[in-house]
Amino acid sequence: MAVTSPIQSTNRIPGRAAFLDRDGTIIEEVGYLDRAERVKFYPWTIDAIKVLNRVGLAVVMVTNQSGISRGFFTEAVVDEVHRHIAAMLAEGGAHIDAYYYCPHHPDGKVPGYAQACDCRKPGRGLVDRAVRELDVEPTRSFVVGDRWLDVALGRAVGADTILVRTGYGMSEEQKRPVDLTADAVVDNLIAAASWMLGRL
Ligand SMILES: [Mg+2]
Ligand SMILES: [Zn+2]
Repeated sequence: MAVTSPIQSTNRIPGRAAFLDRDGTIIEEVGYLDRAERVKFYPWTIDAIKVLNRVGLAVVMVTNQSGISRGFFTEAVVDEVHRHIAAMLAEGGAHIDAYYYCPHHPDGKVPGYAQACDCRKPGRGLVDRAVRELDVEPTRSFVVGDRWLDVALGRAVGADTILVRTGYGMSEEQKRPVDLTADAVVDNLIAAASWMLGRL
């Protein structure tokens, strides 16, 4: 289930969104995040998202949470984590417009979740869901993440793609797949926000 923020941008640019990965991009990568108390924002997280809110991009979280399929935590835990993130953002005057996650993994063990799917990144299912539920056009949008699978998702949907060096990003930068390039590789989410502003 997606958590939707009660605060909505009033100056939304029609169709344009920033699809943001969660772990290693919005919050620190801590392995399987199984408790809301383990959420740690980067020092720039609130400012970066606030900038995206102000310029009128829809901010959409897209995150793989295979820990659900693997039995490490439940969907309720992920929802609680996202409510916690939403509350921390709200305190800082920022918001994420929609929170989407893939709970699946083909090698999982929890019935109903242990399956191949089209929403596990780099599959495009989460972006397609945003297209159905929000006013977004992927080819006019951005995908930001710390892994090449985030970049691959962005490429698949025709968005501009940004790899950030937080999370796994620095090691990912050293092992770029031969068939994949990002439109930008930047240090972190606030640098990514700045790059997106330059493209609007
Ligand atoms: Mg990540
Ligand atoms: Zn999925």
